[in-house]
Amino acid sequence: MSIKKKPKFPNNRLIGNGLLILAGVLLIAYLVPRLVPRLVPRPKPRVPYSLFIQQVENGQVVAVQIDSEQILYRLKGEEGKPGPLLATTTINDSQLLKRLEDNKVLFQAAPPQSRWFAIILNWVIPPIILVAAFQFFMNRNSQGALSMSKNKAKVYIEGESDKITFADIAGVEEAKTELTEIVDFLKTPQRFTEIGARIPKGLLLVGPPGTGKTLLAKAVAGEAGVPFFSISGSEFVELFVGTGAARVRDLFGEAKKKAPCIIFIDEIDAIGKSRSSGNFQSGSSDEREQTLNQLLTEMDGFGAGDLTVIILAATNRPEALDAALLRPGRFDRQVLVDRPDLVGREAILNIYAKKVKLGEDVDLHKIAVRTPGFGGADLANLVNEAALLAARNKRETVAKEDFAEAIERVVAGLEKRSRVLSDREKKIVAYHEVGHALVGALMPGSGKVEKISIVPRGMAALGYTLQLPTEDRFLRDEQEIRGQIATLLGGRAAEEIVFGNITTGASGDLQKATDFAEQMVTTYGMSKVLGPLAYERRGKGGFLGENGVNPRRLLSEKTAEAIDNEVKEIVEKAHQQALDILNHNRDLLESISQQILEQEVIEGDNLYQLLEQVKYPWDKQLDLNK
Ligand code: ADP
Repeated sequence: MSIKKKPKFPNNRLIGNGLLILAGVLLIAYLVPRLVPRLVPRPKPRVPYSLFIQQVENGQVVAVQIDSEQILYRLKGEEGKPGPLLATTTINDSQLLKRLEDNKVLFQAAPPQSRWFAIILNWVIPPIILVAAFQFFMNRNSQGALSMSKNKAKVYIEGESDKITFADIAGVEEAKTELTEIVDFLKTPQRFTEIGARIPKGLLLVGPPGTGKTLLAKAVAGEAGVPFFSISGSEFVELFVGTGAARVRDLFGEAKKKAPCIIFIDEIDAIGKSRSSGNFQSGSSDEREQTLNQLLTEMDGFGAGDLTVIILAATNRPEALDAALLRPGRFDRQVLVDRPDLVGREAILNIYAKKVKLGEDVDLHKIAVRTPGFGGADLANLVNEAALLAARNKRETVAKEDFAEAIERVVAGLEKRSRVLSDREKKIVAYHEVGHALVGALMPGSGKVEKISIVPRGMAALGYTLQLPTEDRFLRDEQEIRGQIATLLGGRAAEEIVFGNITTGASGDLQKATDFAEQMVTTYGMSKVLGPLAYERRGKGGFLGENGVNPRRLLSEKTAEAIDNEVKEIVEKAHQQALDILNHNRDLLESISQQILEQEVIEGDNLYQLLEQVKYPWDKQLDLNK
């Protein structure tokens, strides 16, 4: 590893805390002897000094005791009984003694405090306080810092009442299918080990927050009837170096005792961030690295024949994870837990609608149509909001209007933090994606169009067109790359044709298309003008620190200009082809777009049939290079 380790000062904070404690104790030791005497109850009431003097001069005072802070005095009582005891604050009054003498008042100074009392106050109490404070903080530390290695994982053991099963989750069917296999592993590991199959150890659930990753992990435990340990990645990262690692060790120790079981690590990116990404330069790098290493060691540690402990981890940033975590034998399986499509949303709404009293007029399908981009958690929240509104409106059941209002509320919240499309945006995305699909259906190189979706997906895309290669390909020819470029430009071309306007949504496509065109010219030698020369220096950047090297060979200005022109021409030609195809199939573009606006997703046979109708705007035999 090329990461520079910082010198360790694990005790820095401890020293800081110690100093703080010491300062506190000294302060207490200073204040106590001064404060305690004040706490001794004093006779009341206190009177103003002027009144005291008046009383002296009126001969009402019998005896006075003066100390540096106050004057205690007793008034004459009736019939020889002692009068009330009063006090006033001492004033620097040079006349006082004379006045007292003149009025024949008995007076004395306050007797000195008992020496023992003073000694105890000054010498015994402060050390006692000091020792007590020290003990207190040590205790706290040992519960905190020293026993930090105790894992904080929450353990859920299957109880019939709160058992979660796959029936409680909807809209993530693919993930459920994948996880059913894990349930089988947990239930009957023998079946797999007997034929020598290796039981997977780790599985990564990837998807945006609130799509049901935690719920899925719990459901796996629920279905298999095994205990479920849950911990969040950030809980491993603690103050002291080594505690995270110790916690991992503890967690696995506990889990092995309860095997077969499931460990669920939420937000695994908190510990599993890629070590090469520069994140590890921060102060907590040692801690995170040690924790990660410990996790890897533990995962490697329990092998075949060992107990079945399956680790499910959740993240929404799989690309940020360290490659070591994703290696075979660790988190080698990834399951996408994405935002649900229309059907999925309706199914989720159905689950939650069962928990509230639903009015007759509520149509969950319509609600699902109105909530593209909502995740499972958002939908659960929506039903709850609607129920709250119904209760506020003093209705017996949750009505259509409550849902309408709840959608507005939830959308307003969601729009701020994530992507929920407005109707117009949805329309643009629909035409854009269908544009890709139509061009992709004719052009070689980008595989078969399998799915068009306008459900916002992951972090970046508003919609997507999924194309899968029909066979494994290692070489691509010029036609195919040109076809790919045209397909990439199909989205933008559709926007131009339909709206006569272009949005920012195509920037990613343009980037990719231009990159392809540039590679054709500078790397693959596919340009007739520039010939079979490689203008790109390949395989040098990045590795072994050659970052500074210019990625291109030294070019004459003329060649650079020729490259630019050539790239531009390739992209423009592809753009024109895309426009031709879409113009020629304008009706189909329209009808598929309308269909997808209703259904949000078109895939499989339905899609193949639609795309078979796409017609070539030119004679198919014509060279696409024309
Ligand atoms: P994540 O772990 O992906 O952030 P959670 O599993 O914690 O999301 O989901 C939060 C809550 O949202 C769940 O407790 C559940 O009530 C609801 N929820 C999320 N996704 C779904 C789903 N697919 N089906 C049913 N409920 C869901």
